[in-house]
Amino acid sequence: MATSAKAKRDYRPETRLVHAGTMRSQFNETSEAIYLTQGYVYDSAEQCEARFAGKEPGYVYSRYSNPNMTMFEQRMAALEGAESARATASGMAAVTTALMGLVRAGDHVVAAKALFGSCRWVVEDWLPRFGVESTLVDGMDLAQWQKAVRKNTKALFFESPTNPTLEVIDIEAVAKIAHSVGAKLVVDNVFATPLYQSPLALGADVVVYSATKHIDGQGRCLGGVVLSSEKVIQDHYHQYLRQTGPSLSPFNAWVLLKGLETLGVRVRQQTETAAKVADTLAGHGKLSRVIYPGRKDHPQATIIAKQMKAGSTLCSFEIKGGKAGAFRFLNALSLIRITNNLGDSRSLITHPTTTTHQRLTPEQRAELGIGDGLVRFSAGLEHPDDVIEDLTAALDAV
Ligand SMILES: *Cc1c(COP(=O)(O)O)cnc(C)c1O
Repeated sequence: MATSAKAKRDYRPETRLVHAGTMRSQFNETSEAIYLTQGYVYDSAEQCEARFAGKEPGYVYSRYSNPNMTMFEQRMAALEGAESARATASGMAAVTTALMGLVRAGDHVVAAKALFGSCRWVVEDWLPRFGVESTLVDGMDLAQWQKAVRKNTKALFFESPTNPTLEVIDIEAVAKIAHSVGAKLVVDNVFATPLYQSPLALGADVVVYSATKHIDGQGRCLGGVVLSSEKVIQDHYHQYLRQTGPSLSPFNAWVLLKGLETLGVRVRQQTETAAKVADTLAGHGKLSRVIYPGRKDHPQATIIAKQMKAGSTLCSFEIKGGKAGAFRFLNALSLIRITNNLGDSRSLITHPTTTTHQRLTPEQRAELGIGDGLVRFSAGLEHPDDVIEDLTAALDAV
């Protein structure tokens, strides 16, 4: 199998999305083949021995790796500017690996409060079961990060922009705080996508994605990826992934690889629609606020200008009238679908209070700025005018 000559690092992101990581078999297929195999056979017992001893490169078992996983990992690494990447079965497998691989009993983790629900559970409920303490902070308040870190802190963790209030955290500043105590910064970059924000270039040590979102982008497969330096991957994640087995299926890896080819055009179109939605809804009489990272009125507009290339494919807004108002609005939509997912080719809408953030108490939600009237809109690939007409007609019904 030969790696494509076009997979060089110096091409622009859009070009890397199409070409990086491609490996062709002896048939020289145009589009990457699917390698649905559990294992591999060897020409001789000696070759098998050498492969197992790591003395000869090559595949051994698809829990460890598979050509489709490799192609997906290499394409992601080329896009992210990372030395190394490891694919996982889901975004949560990537997050759990990224955190568990850095700690042992007696260590400490600091994370922002505004986390994807399952990520918050891993930090708050799961890590402490193994003797790893965690502290949650307001991610935008640098003094809180500074105060929370200790000698035994091994990882700092946050997502930016956050779900669902699209707040933005200063990656460079938090990375400095992490490094001052010898800890590593892990950034969940799902909402920004690899196109709009490069945490490693800003000082983060590890980047994780749920590939389920924009990378698939068409509502089909779960997947995830952990990206870092070769040393961090080898020292902290390689054995964990091989031995515990949160491996991505070859078929899903292939779907995600195909998803990457169109990521640039999809995300650009979705961002344009989300920006138009934000501009149309800003100041609307039925709304108490509109949050969009691409607008000048965003509270962290200066940090956004410093660390992001563009706004977001998502826009959140708060409907006056609390849960009843939000539900009337959601039920009046006819094109935009109610769901908990995001980053899809279809425009989707979520009511965080009753879905993704249901587990939190009303006080915890209030602390995060998640009111009962808040909805999160994820722009799809429909004509922007159809989307806007659906949203404004539904607001009229509130
Ligand atoms: C969806 C999501 C995850 C989890 O990903 P899965 O693929 O659903 O396991 C983690 N973090 C963020 C920010 C997400 O949006």
